[in-house]
Amino acid sequence: MDLRQGIGLRKLGKTADEFQQDLLSNLYYRRGTTVESASARDAYETLSLTVRDRLAERRARTAAAHYASNPRWVYYLSAEYLLGAQLEQNLLYSGTGNLAAEAVKALGFSLEDLEDLDVEPGLGNGGLGRLAACLVDSLATRDIPAVGYGIRYDLGIFRQIITENGQTELPDDWAFQGNPWEFPAPDDRQTVGFYGHTEPVPGSPDRKVWVPGEIVLGEPSHMLVPGYGTDTVNIVRLWSAKASEASFDLSRFSAGQYAEAVQEAVRAENISKVLYPDDSTELGRELRLKQQYFLVSCSLRDIIRRFRLRNEDWSEFADKTVIQLNDTHPTIAIPELMRLLVDEYELDWSKAWEITRKTFAYTCHTLLPEALETWPVRLIEKLLPRHLEIIYVINMLFLREVGAQFPGDQDRIRRMSIIQEEPERRVRMAHLAVVGTEAVNGVAELHSKLLRETVLDDFADLWPAKFQNVTNGISPRRFIRIANPRLSDLITEGLGDDSWLRDLEKLAGLESLIGDASFRDRWQSIKRANKVALAAGDPDSLTDVMIKRFHEYKRQQLKLLHVVTLYQRIHANPAGDWVPRTVLFAGKAAPAYHAAKDLIQLIATVGATIAADPVASPYLKVVFPSNYNVTLAEKIIPAADLSEQISLAGKEASGTGNMKLALNGAVTIGTLDGANIEIRARVGEDNFFLFGLDAYEAAQARINGYQPRAFYEHDAELRAAIDALGSGAFGDVGHRVASSLLGWDEYLTLADYRAYLDAQAQVEEAWRDRDRWIRMSILNTAHSGFFSSDRTVADYAARIWRVAPVPVPHED
Ligand SMILES: *Cc1c(COP(=O)(O)O)cnc(C)c1O
Repeated sequence: MDLRQGIGLRKLGKTADEFQQDLLSNLYYRRGTTVESASARDAYETLSLTVRDRLAERRARTAAAHYASNPRWVYYLSAEYLLGAQLEQNLLYSGTGNLAAEAVKALGFSLEDLEDLDVEPGLGNGGLGRLAACLVDSLATRDIPAVGYGIRYDLGIFRQIITENGQTELPDDWAFQGNPWEFPAPDDRQTVGFYGHTEPVPGSPDRKVWVPGEIVLGEPSHMLVPGYGTDTVNIVRLWSAKASEASFDLSRFSAGQYAEAVQEAVRAENISKVLYPDDSTELGRELRLKQQYFLVSCSLRDIIRRFRLRNEDWSEFADKTVIQLNDTHPTIAIPELMRLLVDEYELDWSKAWEITRKTFAYTCHTLLPEALETWPVRLIEKLLPRHLEIIYVINMLFLREVGAQFPGDQDRIRRMSIIQEEPERRVRMAHLAVVGTEAVNGVAELHSKLLRETVLDDFADLWPAKFQNVTNGISPRRFIRIANPRLSDLITEGLGDDSWLRDLEKLAGLESLIGDASFRDRWQSIKRANKVALAAGDPDSLTDVMIKRFHEYKRQQLKLLHVVTLYQRIHANPAGDWVPRTVLFAGKAAPAYHAAKDLIQLIATVGATIAADPVASPYLKVVFPSNYNVTLAEKIIPAADLSEQISLAGKEASGTGNMKLALNGAVTIGTLDGANIEIRARVGEDNFFLFGLDAYEAAQARINGYQPRAFYEHDAELRAAIDALGSGAFGDVGHRVASSLLGWDEYLTLADYRAYLDAQAQVEEAWRDRDRWIRMSILNTAHSGFFSSDRTVADYAARIWRVAPVPVPHED
């Protein structure tokens, strides 16, 4: 048999009996155990392998189709992937849910029990990592040849425990018991250098030889990324750092110096040991820069290896390759590709620069100045000496171009330089990313506009066509089909089939069902059933959720002030006609972000005070489940009535939590920020509770000398809420939060407080008219189709990547 003709595989079982046979084979031959002694763990691992085999078969066909067509590839470079649990997703995408349920029952287990053993790989902090996961899902669903590259951190985002003492962090050793979803590929290992020095190459002024002072190995493993409703299976390839054999010091070991013998190896392997748990500030630690270069160096060599399987001529590289940089974390890829092309493959500088610029595209994810990455020149010089030289040349040539366009404008040159001079010399990674790429995009309309008008305005003057918007999206498979099966079934019934899962704009068809009272009733009963399943509070209360990372710009403090005011109002009038609410917070704070951790502790303490209060507790409950992650999000979102998206306008780049909640029929209360604006435009002004300053008013308020105390003094309810927090009843945290709000209030919480409470009053009025609320809920779902990441990927494919799908032939 010629294995290159087709993939030559024996068929995997399709019927329940055959599936069970495959499961048994895996139990015996791969897990090495028996039916009699199989533990739940054995059953979980065996089931996962059986499901994985079905995807692996599709993967083999995908690779054959890709190899045959030699297409243009999308390579997504991201320091984070927040993939979520794999078993349920892969059951759905392989269409084996029913077969699996039956088969594991025969082993004496329920599918739900086994799903509980499926640990999500927490290889990301929040929105940025989850976006990467949604985009790779949609790339496969759209049959686009793509590989996602990332780091296989041993320890993912910390596990969080909430008590009245606030947040405690525990290490997340997510693969401690093994991870059945990944395939190690040690043969594709790469060698990565650090430190050392450079030497000139006689007769070649552009080239240098870099002699690294430390060598680390990068070993890949990949996870399968199936498309939904198609045969394509792409991969995410994750790199682990390994010490080279030479780093074990046998002579020290023999001399009894055990710790010293392995210290070099430990240092090497620390590179992929832990995910940095900060999601919007950059600490500038050496190990972090090492992680970034490690990811980039391994991935670029792998990309080049793959290119050379089918191509020889470098002039085709940029036609066959587009590399998307997910934020600035992988930006060192720009000088790295230059180094590879110029120093190793001996292309001349201008040719290499043309290829490099055409190959990369950059997605910016922030507007916060503290989140814009810069690295000390000294550090790059020490760790990556050749890259610093290349960055200097790139900068010199770039500033010459600026000088030619804007003669004599020294100030502009200083602003645009890749090197910041004051107060210390640093490399501005966002500038490098704009200069070295063909396209730059923001992640929502407002964000892209503000990037052009503020953070990157000089660059937009120079290259207006380079700047684009691609509004973020979410995977409808994970965030409604898997998270909310009840609602998905109703939608499928209402629309006639489930093709909306691949074409989410079809949800608009729900609008015509709004007049049907029995449809509305079922919609409401499903929301109620989801609340019962969540078991967070009275299922008939208004379930008001704020779930996202803790950050002052997101303004959990504003929600807290609302809770305290409600509490005080109830106390002032216990017989009032109060709308019962369950306020649910979830989210982690960076371990070093003290103000955010204070807020978590204060919310937990206020929640406990309310719970112990017989007057308020019938109407108001605060719950704070620990350890917000994708798995928890999938439980909370289907139960939400009200979605809190209350960041200070101009600070949240897009948000994607807002999209997940709207898709599941939660109504948003929000500011004109990020994608909230686009959600409101689609679901309709009447189905969205808008409040607060807009981005321009917010910026202006700061310029005009914003005084939080003036708001405090003029608003008795606000004063009472802040006084209660600072009264001593909530200890030092209460004092710190109250005085931070009164002293500076960086994110204008007090300025928006009254507008927010007014909007919450409108929420309650709408809630009391239950029929009106259900209609609003249905309209939110019906008009969320735009926020599918399938649409996001189609936008990138058409406007930035210019790639076409490569269908994988279907086999029965
Ligand atoms: C979607 C998601 C986020 C992003 O939420 P935002 O509200 O957009 O900040 C963060 N964490 C998890 C686990 C998510 O699923």
